[in-house]
Amino acid sequence: MNAPVRSIAQTNDGVTVTSDAGVWTAAWAVVATAPPMAARISYTPPMPPRRDAFTQRMPMGSIIKVHVAYETPFWRAKGLSGSILSDRTATGLWMDHSIPGVETGGMVGFFGGGHAQAWAERSPEERRARVLEDLATYLGPEANKPTEYVERSWPAAPWQRGAYWAMPTPGALTAFGPALREPVGRIHWAGTETADANIGYLDGAIQSGERVAGDIVNHL
Ligand SMILES: Cc1cc2nc3c(=O)[nH]c(=O)nc-3n(C[C@H](O)[C@H](O)[C@H](O)COP(=O)(O)OP(=O)(O)OC[C@H]3O[C@@H](n4cnc5c(N)ncnc54)[C@H](O)[C@@H]3O)c2cc1C
Repeated sequence: MNAPVRSIAQTNDGVTVTSDAGVWTAAWAVVATAPPMAARISYTPPMPPRRDAFTQRMPMGSIIKVHVAYETPFWRAKGLSGSILSDRTATGLWMDHSIPGVETGGMVGFFGGGHAQAWAERSPEERRARVLEDLATYLGPEANKPTEYVERSWPAAPWQRGAYWAMPTPGALTAFGPALREPVGRIHWAGTETADANIGYLDGAIQSGERVAGDIVNHL
């Protein structure tokens, strides 16, 4: 934690990992970030052309996640479920995520794709105003009086630069696919994007950790 890795150097004998919090040497390294974030680390020697070409073709998605809390789930009294799927507003996917058994209400929603890219460059106050306007469109004017607003702009997060995950552009897997998982010398690749199934989910991340741990054990 709090140790962003800036560079990884490898020789036939081991790896040296340099981060803002210190330098580590080891026999093997596992890079478990999304591929485009892995590409921002400086490697010595440089990555082989196929691996570098692949990571150039796997951008992060664009999502801003928003939670809005209310004194009550007021929409239910109007016979509304709180589930919204619409392209009429900047935020178009919403769900009621009120906690069962408590009086307060909550909505969780997203700016996605082009809307996330455009709104990531606006201020949190501007996004809050837009979110409340959108919710009022679907749920009524009560939506303008939240008790709390919490957001996470994933495209702006310096060590994520997007969400939910990284996706290969058309043709990238056909042309460069093996580079997704193939180790480069003493550097192995993990993370949900490298999973066999459930890519983009926690399950995929865990699978990838198990796979790469097995690969390293086989080296020992
Ligand atoms: C809004 C949102 C909702 C989601 N909802 C669900 C859901 O409901 N269910 C589900 O299963 N999954 C969900 N996911 C996806 C899930 O969070 C991911 O699939 C999972 O976290 C991927 O795990 P990972 O270990 O591969 O990568 P990450 O969790 O992204 O971990 C990679 C880590 O690497 C760090 N990092 C990046 N660069 C460097 C560097 N140079 N040096 C050191 N560290 C670095 C990052 O800070 C990050 O902590 C959601 C994701 C988002 C964003």
